[in-house]
Amino acid sequence: MLPVARELTSSWLRRLALSYGLPPQDLLRAALSGPHPVRIFRVPKAGLELFVNSLAQTALARFAGIAPTQLTSLLPSLEPAEERLGDDVPRAAWYAPRLRWITACPPCTALAWMPRQPVLLYPAAADHICLRHRRWLLAHCRKAVFIPLQTLPEVLAAHRRHTALARTHPQAEEIVALAAAVVWSWQVQGWTGEAIWQHRTHRLASLTGCTASAVAAHALLPYPETIAVARLIGDARWQQRLRARATTAGPAAATGLLLEELGRRINRPWLSDWLTAHTRTRRRRPGQDPAINDPLQQWLNSLTHTDSTDSSTLWSVPAPATRPLEYSDRTGFLLTTGHRTAVEEAKATSLAGGWEPGIPLHIGPEPPLRP
Ligand SMILES: [Zn+2]
Repeated sequence: MLPVARELTSSWLRRLALSYGLPPQDLLRAALSGPHPVRIFRVPKAGLELFVNSLAQTALARFAGIAPTQLTSLLPSLEPAEERLGDDVPRAAWYAPRLRWITACPPCTALAWMPRQPVLLYPAAADHICLRHRRWLLAHCRKAVFIPLQTLPEVLAAHRRHTALARTHPQAEEIVALAAAVVWSWQVQGWTGEAIWQHRTHRLASLTGCTASAVAAHALLPYPETIAVARLIGDARWQQRLRARATTAGPAAATGLLLEELGRRINRPWLSDWLTAHTRTRRRRPGQDPAINDPLQQWLNSLTHTDSTDSSTLWSVPAPATRPLEYSDRTGFLLTTGHRTAVEEAKATSLAGGWEPGIPLHIGPEPPLRP
């Protein structure tokens, strides 16, 4: 039984163990057994990922009957080998995953599913949506969980554009991360009550059976706007146009042009006026840099002051403006009261995990140096 591409090593091992009728730890011990003693740290609790050193990688590949390079190309957590486990004997350890993961679309991976053991995947760029079955895939260790998207056509349309961006732009993930920070800066300024988002919030709440508070921090809500921003700032022709406007008419004119176009694309014609007024208000606060929490303005400043061939710093997100990765952190920003209840509800309905826009960052505690 081979892994599915980008599968969690623990998901593959659990499926393998079920096919042999063995507990995962016993199967792992058998797969690693050889001339050396085998060391396995911790037990395979639900939600944990399996990390192995290079000797254990070789043993797992031998057990699967494939080349070690093929195994590492399929299982992201194997690359690089877990050096902190040491390399004297085959060693393995069960730790919290360090990347976001999702439960695969059941009809698309039906052959690989085992009873109560779905295929768990680390999603690449735009893999959090199955376009064929119109689902936003969530994260649960034991069962299929997803949001049906039939009544959210704007999310499906955004996903088509996101897929195209990921296919054509080598820095698509960085661009989407910056766009997510831009839209997050709007969300925390009180946009959550704005008509389009409010309507989408109610649809998402009814689809998931949750309250509006529990879905407020989910990545689906700002997704169409995030991809619209990403497409515009990632478009070389628009970058050229903004540079030209800044040169001929000054930075304020370039900002105006960018906001007008963004407002048109996200169907908020008031965007430019609203943000200009907001910036003016913020500038009145003493001692605060007006651009500190404005990743869009920072991007534009960087674009218009950078040589066109140098884009190394163009997509960096200023730390204070980053969209928080943790659901509970975002909920805390977006709700004035009841955020603990909202987070518990989101966790109970699998909304708190899963894909997040941008670069896959390491999350959760790092394993100790020596278990
Ligand atoms: Zn599917």
